[in-house]
Amino acid sequence: MEAVETIIGIDLGTTNSLAATVFEHGPEALRPPGGEAIVPSVLTRREGRWIVGREAREQRTTHPQETVFSVKRLMGRDAQELQAALARLPYRVEAAQRGLVKVHVGEEAFTPQELSAEILREVKRNAEAALGKAVHKAVITVPAYFDDAQRQATRAAGRIAGLEVVRIINEPTAAAIAYGLDERKKGLVAVYDLGGGTFDISILELTGTVFKVLATHGDTELGGDDFDEVIAEEMRRRVREKHPEMVLDDPLSRQLLRKIAELLKIDLSRALDTEYTLELPGKGLDFKDGFNVETLNGLIAPFVDSTLESCRLALAAAGKSTADIDEVVLVGGSTRVPLVRRIVEEFFGKPPNVSINPDEVVAVGAGIQGHLLAGGRRDYVLLDVIPLALGIETLGGTFSKLITANTTVPTQANELFTTYVDNQTGVDFNIFQGEREFVKDCRSLGRFRLKGIPPMPAGLPKVEVTFLVDANGILTVSAIEQRSVMEAQIEVIPSHGLTNDEIDRIMEESFEHALDDLNQRQLVDFRNMAKAVFRGIDKAWKQARSILSEGELAQIRVQMEQVKKATGGEDPVALKAEMDKLGELTRPLADAIMSQAALSELREFFAEHRAGED
Ligand code: AMP
Repeated sequence: MEAVETIIGIDLGTTNSLAATVFEHGPEALRPPGGEAIVPSVLTRREGRWIVGREAREQRTTHPQETVFSVKRLMGRDAQELQAALARLPYRVEAAQRGLVKVHVGEEAFTPQELSAEILREVKRNAEAALGKAVHKAVITVPAYFDDAQRQATRAAGRIAGLEVVRIINEPTAAAIAYGLDERKKGLVAVYDLGGGTFDISILELTGTVFKVLATHGDTELGGDDFDEVIAEEMRRRVREKHPEMVLDDPLSRQLLRKIAELLKIDLSRALDTEYTLELPGKGLDFKDGFNVETLNGLIAPFVDSTLESCRLALAAAGKSTADIDEVVLVGGSTRVPLVRRIVEEFFGKPPNVSINPDEVVAVGAGIQGHLLAGGRRDYVLLDVIPLALGIETLGGTFSKLITANTTVPTQANELFTTYVDNQTGVDFNIFQGEREFVKDCRSLGRFRLKGIPPMPAGLPKVEVTFLVDANGILTVSAIEQRSVMEAQIEVIPSHGLTNDEIDRIMEESFEHALDDLNQRQLVDFRNMAKAVFRGIDKAWKQARSILSEGELAQIRVQMEQVKKATGGEDPVALKAEMDKLGELTRPLADAIMSQAALSELREFFAEHRAGED
């Protein structure tokens, strides 16, 4: 089957962004006729219109307050989390509603999603010019460590830009796909990504059909910009040696120095030495000098060494050593620096994969993924992630998630549930998908009943529910009552049950309601817990008399009243505090009962209660 529509791949980067797709002759970055594939992720506004890319980047130093860059660092983050980063950014960012931030550009303010959307719009325009047709769908890459909020923000940016984000995939995974490493079926891949402003190392494990991210590490403030800065500083030093009176700290001089430094650095990726000229007619400066690769290496070595420290930490976190790594993939413009290549090769003990342009490799991987999703061919099973959490309804209409969003398939999860009513012989399972805390706000996927459980007191049956999602994204839910070995099963197809529009809407809503939901959810959970505690105490009361003193029993009674009062209120924190006090008072009772093994449901309750406290 040939692709009927084009789903482009987009690398939405901190410094640069671009798109790629698969042509007859193979995958390629999308260049508009006569233009370049790469759009610097920098934007500004003039007379109510956005200027995105190269032109905006040019004025970064001269108009620092109106030029926005590194928006990616703000995506899905609230003002509090961003405090440290914001201090370093020249543009103004302020807290907005629901923990969002807004960036000031002139008189106006925009969310990071809107700003990223403008970058995406520009990339989309480039892609459309290159393809000669409209583009509506894309796969967008994100760093492996991006959490759900950051992924959601990326998805929202796509929507604002008029793109249906068909899939979000991890950048290191995209790079590995670009090199065809997904066809190897097995192995460990290290993806070393050194860009303009960030460094990431990811250790991926390929098992059969999917890449699992075993560990990531990095430095969000390290990259080629640092190389430029130390080179510029060296040039300043040299100028000062000859012209001690010359101060080169104004925006224009800084911009010139950085620009010359970057060009010089790029030259030295191809040659052993080079020359540069600093011309500042306003200051009467016309300075010529040479620069060689040894000087460069000496200046940047500390930065390159610090990336190796991240590599060591990532390997340690993955429980692997360099000898376990089968392939090393280089990503990011700064991996063109020969010293970087040499040090990485020495560290991993093998030459890295470098045949694909390191600026384009992530977009190319995303383009291949988009091509596959559009029905294009490549003879292996698709990588996939679960777009929204999967789970079942539990008491009080709460949504109990078994598998969280963005889990890579195939995957499996199980959890134990029990009955709430004595002699209950059947249990209904309502399966839902969504990101909210209550099932009424989630999408129902199906329901089934586990029948034939022998009559037992509430809390005694142990029903193990298993969610299994296969490589095609098909969910099978099964339940088994462990004491009676009754079993029931249902197959559900979640990813086909939701359109991307629905996912986007749900994602947006979930963001809006997250706080309210959480409170409500906790309240219901704690009320249920309180009921179970009361049941347990009632059942154990007889024994309690022989274990606890009259005074202690009276204290428990008084505290039970306090808990009851709090269950009538609306404050989950207050309720939890009262519950904790009761837990303390009944602890000797629980310990005694635990050792007797008589009232198993109470035992289970306490075990659960304690687990819940972690
Ligand atoms: P990226 O964030 O991946 O787009 O990488 C951008 C960084 O790569 C910038 O710091 C560039 O100066 C740097 N870069 C691009 N090309 C080269 C090159 N040939 N040699 C050294 N650094 C480069």
